[in-house]
Amino acid sequence: MNRQAAHDLIVIGGGPAGLTAGLYAGRGGLRAAIVEKLMPGGLVANTERIDNYPGFPEGISGYDLAQRLQAQAARFGAEFISDEAVGITPEPKSFTVPLASKKVLRAKALVIATGAFPKKLGVPGERELLGKGVSYCAVCDGAFFRGQEVAVVGGGDSAIQEAVYLAGLCSKVTVVHRRSSLRAAESLQKLAFRNERISFAWDKSVSAIEGSSGVTGVRVMDKGTGVDEVIPASGVFIYVGYSPNSAVAGSLVKLDEAGHIVTDDNMATSHPGIYAAGDVRRKLVRQIAGAVGDAATAAVAAQHYIENL
Ligand code: NAP
Repeated sequence: MNRQAAHDLIVIGGGPAGLTAGLYAGRGGLRAAIVEKLMPGGLVANTERIDNYPGFPEGISGYDLAQRLQAQAARFGAEFISDEAVGITPEPKSFTVPLASKKVLRAKALVIATGAFPKKLGVPGERELLGKGVSYCAVCDGAFFRGQEVAVVGGGDSAIQEAVYLAGLCSKVTVVHRRSSLRAAESLQKLAFRNERISFAWDKSVSAIEGSSGVTGVRVMDKGTGVDEVIPASGVFIYVGYSPNSAVAGSLVKLDEAGHIVTDDNMATSHPGIYAAGDVRRKLVRQIAGAVGDAATAAVAAQHYIENL
């Protein structure tokens, strides 16, 4: 195996939390590397508009925010490694982190900032029609459905934010929700309710995604009447929450019942030298503003840990 020079801190995950941990570690004089398997920014890079990140009164695109965060981390010396961390092995006063490329990184401390991945509905047609009309990313795939009818499943911030985005491209967006009120923030709800291209299918559970070579509709059942119907759609965008990407550290640190990493107030996990930040962590509020706050704390706490080794 090709062993690389040791770092002080390895940050696993290059979303807002990971990039911020790299920024703070670099500013603190640590030799820090951020390992990200996809693009800088993680899921945020695929968010069309972010309106609630402080300091951007007009909003900012997720892609632009990710680019800025990466540039700021790089300015303070954080190294960006495009690869996938596939495990963590504790060593005396250090950790080794094998990568998918077969390289192995070594560092004195780690920040896990691996975020989360979209939950699946688990209905017939979802897996079979993935990439043929089933999508978990409106910004990536919405343009394929320009001028067509689509459905969005879910009632949280993600579903409503992306329904509003899709309404700018598609002729009709039907939001399919399992209850009769939304979980999404009031401001997002207002945007959706006043958009003429968005309609709502309330109290509906999705039983299947219909279609063969491409999606033709979403089969739903009314939870009150039991009546079954198919909502015509050539695309279906599923936003029913996220599960934490904690597998890389899961056997070493304490997780909650949903798989989130449990930390203390300083973002320390149950394993000395391993910190966690952002959506992979157990917490109430999942916002970019919170993720970067977690990461600043995690990087500073990791620095104290390294200084006391
Ligand atoms: P979420 O808040 O967990 O909402 C998931 C939605 O999907 C809920 O409406 C839920 O219904 C529904 N759902 C869950 N399982 C389902 C199933 N099996 N079948 C049908 N519907 C199902 O997830 P999210 O909207 O992705 O948000 C995740 C976190 O990111 C939240 O903390 C959110 O605030 C944050 N976020 C914030 C923003 C923003 O601030 N602009 C944008 C995106 C995400 P119920 O309502 O009945 O539970």
